[in-house]
Amino acid sequence: MRLIEKIKKRERLTQAEGEALYELDLFTLGELADEIRQEKFGKKSYFNINRHINPTNVCADICKFCAYSASRKNPNQYTMSHEQILQIASSAIANGAKELHIVSAHNPNDGIEWYMGAFRKIREQFPDVHIKAMTAAEVDFLSRQYGASYDEVLDLMVESGVDSMPGGGAEIFDEQVREYLCKGKVTSNQWLEIHQKWHTRGKESNATMLFGHVESRANRIDHILRLRDLQDKTGGFNAFIPLVYQRDNNFLKVKSFLTGQEILKTFAISRILLDNIPHIKAYWATSTINLALIAQEFGADDLDGTIEKESIQSAAGATSANGMKLDDFVSMIKNAGFVPVERDSLYNELKIYQ
Ligand code: SF4
Repeated sequence: MRLIEKIKKRERLTQAEGEALYELDLFTLGELADEIRQEKFGKKSYFNINRHINPTNVCADICKFCAYSASRKNPNQYTMSHEQILQIASSAIANGAKELHIVSAHNPNDGIEWYMGAFRKIREQFPDVHIKAMTAAEVDFLSRQYGASYDEVLDLMVESGVDSMPGGGAEIFDEQVREYLCKGKVTSNQWLEIHQKWHTRGKESNATMLFGHVESRANRIDHILRLRDLQDKTGGFNAFIPLVYQRDNNFLKVKSFLTGQEILKTFAISRILLDNIPHIKAYWATSTINLALIAQEFGADDLDGTIEKESIQSAAGATSANGMKLDDFVSMIKNAGFVPVERDSLYNELKIYQ
């Protein structure tokens, strides 16, 4: 079959060929993706010791799929003070966290300084910790809310100590689906523009795709290929993270959940199509840990991290609220036949667990 030959020769696939990959049987697709994964990383599976911090759930936007945000009338709203954020950071670092992954809702009340001041204070107190913070959606929100250009917000982030950007806010790039999902939020082109600008500052970022809601397979392939195009220009994405949509407590009301087969196919197809993004991450908080472990055989080489505490996916039904213990994480990866490798946020290897 011509498609399989092209993959074996490591030739680039088109949109139509990407869509056709979904018609292959799961195991053929898995084998093809695994070959590429093993060529790049052998049996190594990467993870980091990190702490997710979500400093506020007060949000000016209204994405239909979101179970995390609170409107100003919601009694469950919260906004952390800088002292509270510092306390969480301090205890996480004492427990071994090397990365703080800080993502907030779009809080219109506290000003740009509330965001940047938190990063600066963490940086002053903990010079070595990696701060991964501010999705492109947050950058766009601050720019709109406070009349700053993207360049000004990104420069402020660098000055305040942000090391890399997470990949959130990408959702699905198709304009029609996006209009339905999250009208008013950062557009697809703006999301890509912000990451491009970040990369030209010599900084790295992740890219995500939220799938399993109302998008088509063609929309997923289009999303992946738009990322591949930008990566050709900048080389700044270090990982691609397909995020499985969680269906509880939101306004999208999708009744069925994706099959495991569809999720695994999407991981495998991502590995095959993204010849220029090094890592494919199975973020266990959205796929479940069991499926993430299996995804290692379908092209994924990274399982994110121990997380410690997670608020966004667990609000929508995921069982990730309390993170994962390091020993359990390592044993599960080993039991699945892979070699756990603790990495830093830029994929330098810190410890191999033989
Ligand atoms: S996804 Fe983010 S921007 Fe959208 S409503 Fe939720 S917190 Fe707000």
